[in-house]
Amino acid sequence: MTDFTAKDFQMAIQEEKNYFDERKTSHTVTKDNEMKEELYHDLNCSICLELNFQPVKLASCSHVFCKHCLEKLRLYTKNNNFPCPLCRQTQSKFEPTVDEKIQKEFHKKIQEEFPNKMKEHKVYLEEMRKEALEPKPKTYQLLFGNHHSIDRSRDKNKHCWTTFVDIRNETGAGINDNRRIISKVTYDFNGYFPKAVRKSLNKHTTYDVTRWGWGTFDIEIKVEFVRDLNIPSIFLNHELSFDGDGETKTFPFELSVRNLEKILKKKDGTYHSSRGRTKNRTKNRTKNRWR
Ligand SMILES: [Zn+2]
Ligand SMILES: [Zn+2]
Repeated sequence: MTDFTAKDFQMAIQEEKNYFDERKTSHTVTKDNEMKEELYHDLNCSICLELNFQPVKLASCSHVFCKHCLEKLRLYTKNNNFPCPLCRQTQSKFEPTVDEKIQKEFHKKIQEEFPNKMKEHKVYLEEMRKEALEPKPKTYQLLFGNHHSIDRSRDKNKHCWTTFVDIRNETGAGINDNRRIISKVTYDFNGYFPKAVRKSLNKHTTYDVTRWGWGTFDIEIKVEFVRDLNIPSIFLNHELSFDGDGETKTFPFELSVRNLEKILKKKDGTYHSSRGRTKNRTKNRTKNRWR
């Protein structure tokens, strides 16, 4: 047994006091949370359970949902028979329009109770506004596949094939400047031939690779784009085709108009000087083919 001193007594009292203080605050916090939760429940959309910044009131039953959810739902229902997601009451000719009176009230409460959420929402609105101003991206096509012909001068490896990657713009026309869009194409011939790399702006004017062989296999193609376009590499798979002239496939990809303008406007010294030497290159390429 130890002696119970005055100091111990003081400490015990303090501990007790702390305990009650703690309970008091934790209790208040809980109550506060409960109230907030309830309020949150009133302010949220019962479909997506998010705070409802764009409230739409259904005329038939006065239930309120967020505009985005109702728009999505409407896509799946016949417009002249739109049921309320809560009470199933239908209403005809439904067009989700934000109830401005309710919205004002909601925004005021949200601003008071969940200021951070309101801030987030404002950032989101600003992003949406900017996106709406942004011109629609252009859809270009990657053309890829292989040309094929029979080389009668050969016995065994008589299939002459050229695998390629090219670009078509929105109207389906070829692009003179495709080397400004693609930076590098890598062909993986699955071990049947060594990998081949075609880089723009150095020694190649096209992304073609020509080989002779006797059989077909899958070619994995990785297409990399110039940095300013800010789009990820595209991976393509092509099964070599020896049918007639070969086979051409397409793969769509999107380019932001702004980025596209940026790269097409760029005065590129390397590009122009290489263009001047194109003739020689074609000659060399032809020579290499028959090596
Ligand atoms: Zn919703
Ligand atoms: Zn309803």
